Amino acid sequence: MGKKRPKLGCEEDMAQGRTMMKVHKITKREFLKLCGAGLGGLCMPLLTGLKKTAQAQRPQKGLIKTKLSPYFTALEDGAVQCELCPRQCRVPKGKRGYCGVRENRDGKYYSLVYGNPCALHLDPIEKKPFFHVLPGTRALSIATAGCNFHCKFCQNWEISQASPEEVYSYDVSPALVTTRAEEMGAHSVAYTYVEPTVFLEYMLDVGMVARGAGLLNVIHSNGFVNEKPLRDLCKVLDAAQIDLKGFSEDFYRELCSGSLAPVLETLKTLREENIHLEITNLMIPTKNDDPGMVKDMCVWIREELGPDTPLHFSRFYPLYKLTKLPPTPVSVLEKARAIALSVGLRYVYIGNVPGHEGWNTFCPECGRMLIQRTGYMIREIHLNHGRCAFCGNAVPGIWS
Ligand code: SF4
Repeated sequence: MGKKRPKLGCEEDMAQGRTMMKVHKITKREFLKLCGAGLGGLCMPLLTGLKKTAQAQRPQKGLIKTKLSPYFTALEDGAVQCELCPRQCRVPKGKRGYCGVRENRDGKYYSLVYGNPCALHLDPIEKKPFFHVLPGTRALSIATAGCNFHCKFCQNWEISQASPEEVYSYDVSPALVTTRAEEMGAHSVAYTYVEPTVFLEYMLDVGMVARGAGLLNVIHSNGFVNEKPLRDLCKVLDAAQIDLKGFSEDFYRELCSGSLAPVLETLKTLREENIHLEITNLMIPTKNDDPGMVKDMCVWIREELGPDTPLHFSRFYPLYKLTKLPPTPVSVLEKARAIALSVGLRYVYIGNVPGHEGWNTFCPECGRMLIQRTGYMIREIHLNHGRCAFCGNAVPGIWS
């Protein structure tokens, strides 16, 4: 990191390469609100909230900002074919692709979400969830309208399934995103909440400016993107949290209107590009919690990505179009974690269960607790320059 940043709710001694942090207790109610509510209740408009900011602005409904996309092929009849994600939408003149944020204007294909995010929030990096990236720091999180999946369990469907005309957005240049991140004491910019690759052109430019200012760029993505734009993204990306939503094509087709195979290719490409990688599997009762499916997924991760890939099993809460299902039983999450550990994955977490020991990081070599978390707050860290403070095992991640 190029600059010294404000301390964030912890006492750090980075000069020693070791961090000890004091507890910031939150209630169970607060934890559930943070974990289960997605954007709900956390949509603080930072641009209007900064009292000293001359450019403070109110969000505008239907704000559209365009940029010509480099990711399309012109077809003979004035139509275009989008090359950004595996849908490869063929879009006639005047129409938009499946994600609703790209439009064919006279045979050229434009992003409608370049510089008009509808969400801009300061989050704990643990909320993404990244457990191996600068623990205890904050990420300025941004999102626009639109998504290339239609998940029936989407936490943020109010913006992911909306068009740019239906949401309130801010006019924020890439440079302004970075300025705000620095003002707010963020250590990273997170592209999240919806599928960020639908605003890839914006993400690339924000990413370049943010990297120049010493910030990390991190993404939470469904991984449904074509190889060329993904490799372009990797030039500015530091860490990726990819949803591996289930381990069958049937699951992806029926619940996400998507496909598994391209997601697996994305994971392999990210590993090849040496991007720090974590995976989240939201366990939905009766949909993707079959132990055989879980085992197959874990073996695939071990074989293709390596046993040090952090895996988060996250608890489902009923919402959007799956309100009739119950929350995931904790025992199901514990069983999944046991399966993952038994096949050799070394960093396996249980998410969205307050106080569960699976929320903490343990050293796979000596078994000692390395990072203790209370909600999104860090209670203790026992790492020396990315190694276990007790046995010296190297722990994958970005630690300073
Ligand atoms: S990014 Fe959008 S327009 Fe392009 S192929 Fe994917 S869904 Fe279609």
